[in-house]
Amino acid sequence: MPSHLHTHDISCQELLASIGDYVEGDLAPELCREIERHLAECEHCRVVVDTLNKTITLYHASAHEIILPDDVRGRLYYVLKLDDLRPKRP
Ligand SMILES: [Zn+2]
Repeated sequence: MPSHLHTHDISCQELLASIGDYVEGDLAPELCREIERHLAECEHCRVVVDTLNKTITLYHASAHEIILPDDVRGRLYYVLKLDDLRPKRP
């Protein structure tokens, strides 16, 4: 019945832990697949990755160091917190 369990799906936390390497292109191809599959179904992570991607592209174009801007970090924490706020039984 749980047909979606045929592969190891990564969690939002796992995704966000590797997202720096992912956007930098340093990640193993299998892991990239996992991330892309997760992104296809998780809008929160998609927003984070999209923002990070643009930010890093900008930094590469115009600066020498990569610093996570406050608003991106805010999004990361927002996503992580969302995970903790999953509906619980009263
Ligand atoms: Zn996610």
